[in-house]
Amino acid sequence: MSGTRVSRRRVLKTGATALGGGALALGAGAAAQAQAPAIGTGTQTGRTFRGLVRHAATLDVQEMRLLPIDPRQVVIRSLAVAPCYTIVRGALAANAIQRAEVPNHCGFGVVEAVGAMVKRVQAGDRVVVAGTSQCGQCYQCLHGRPDYCQFTFFSNAPGVEPFAPFAQLRDGTPVYAQAGIGGMSEIMTAFEEYCVPVFTDLPAAQLTLLGDQLASGFAAGHAEMVFQPGSDVVVFGAGPVGLGAVQAARVMGAGQVIVVDPIRYRREFALKMGATTTLDANAEGDGIVERIRELCRGPNDRRFAGGTTWGRAGNAAMSRGADFVVEAAGLEALPPKTERQPDPTNVKTVLQAWDCTRAGGHVMLMGFTLQPVPFPGVSLALLGRTLHPGQQGGLHVMRDIPRYVKLIEKGRIDAASVITKRYTLDQARQSVQDTADRTIITGVVEFT
Ligand SMILES: [Zn+2]
Ligand SMILES: [Zn+2]
Repeated sequence: MSGTRVSRRRVLKTGATALGGGALALGAGAAAQAQAPAIGTGTQTGRTFRGLVRHAATLDVQEMRLLPIDPRQVVIRSLAVAPCYTIVRGALAANAIQRAEVPNHCGFGVVEAVGAMVKRVQAGDRVVVAGTSQCGQCYQCLHGRPDYCQFTFFSNAPGVEPFAPFAQLRDGTPVYAQAGIGGMSEIMTAFEEYCVPVFTDLPAAQLTLLGDQLASGFAAGHAEMVFQPGSDVVVFGAGPVGLGAVQAARVMGAGQVIVVDPIRYRREFALKMGATTTLDANAEGDGIVERIRELCRGPNDRRFAGGTTWGRAGNAAMSRGADFVVEAAGLEALPPKTERQPDPTNVKTVLQAWDCTRAGGHVMLMGFTLQPVPFPGVSLALLGRTLHPGQQGGLHVMRDIPRYVKLIEKGRIDAASVITKRYTLDQARQSVQDTADRTIITGVVEFT
């Protein structure tokens, strides 16, 4: 891991240490403890393929040779992949890194071979490779929180190399898949715990969005935090994740859907996805919290007649605000080519998301914020706001991805429109650059 990389797993590393230690006993560490023997036939060991590789000071398409897989791994021929914003700083940085790595942490493709112990998928299945596993056996999965499946968080344990290299460059340099998944190469190998088979004719470019961005954003509104019909929803950040939350608000029947973003074209895009009001984070400045409270104050000041404001009561500020708030802005990993966000660290945005939630309301923090965020202790104690962690929006991949497929088939989720640019593998580096520049909503690399 490079020192400048901002990846979801790196950020979660500290918090996941305890989980990771426990997960060692799962057997998930088979690859870490010893290089698995080749399965023999059908694993495609030695097959050559191409992919985007971050190595030394470069990010280029290179030829690789597939190494033997673990008995619980799957060989997948990639069909489409969408680079996640969280990888851009590490992928595009100019510093030289020793470890060669295929970037990203999700993808979509066809299963071509399976290890001897794989049960979930078989050759020929089309699979979403999700950013979070769902093993179904660990403590977290058994206690209803597969969004924190220990198989995923095992990979965060300090000093532990959970995933063996999956390929070699021509000169023999081992190549790792970022987070054990990668995605931006013609061949992926993934443990079956990350693979979700989908049985549909939908195009690969749409289905790959269910591995991370669109699925994470949509999950924000129904998986752990559940938008209520007619409720006031606020979404900070109209990127691929935030727009997923906007679509969830539309599907769940929210009343107002207020979207905050500094980028003009993204605000306009949000209106097409279901936003009812958009606000420019830069133009509103520090007044944005009061503006949102005003928008959510209800039809009158009569608290006995449905007004959500308490008029001139001394504690009026406590009682006004949105029912549900999603913070999906995140920090600015690299300066964009579009409008800048008001606070590149995202600390201010997190505090605004907290402050514009009504007493008793719900707020989910999905964006990364690396600096400490000072929450007033009294508001934490007394306002009854429920704070939800935004790790993939609470997505339970095996439960939720198949139902999102049905919602796309029925036209309830619009996965086609959020793809605003397509690339070939040879243009994959540009897809990462455009993601960093924020000149696209979602870019998809299609493999032919
Ligand atoms: Zn991601
Ligand atoms: Zn699990």
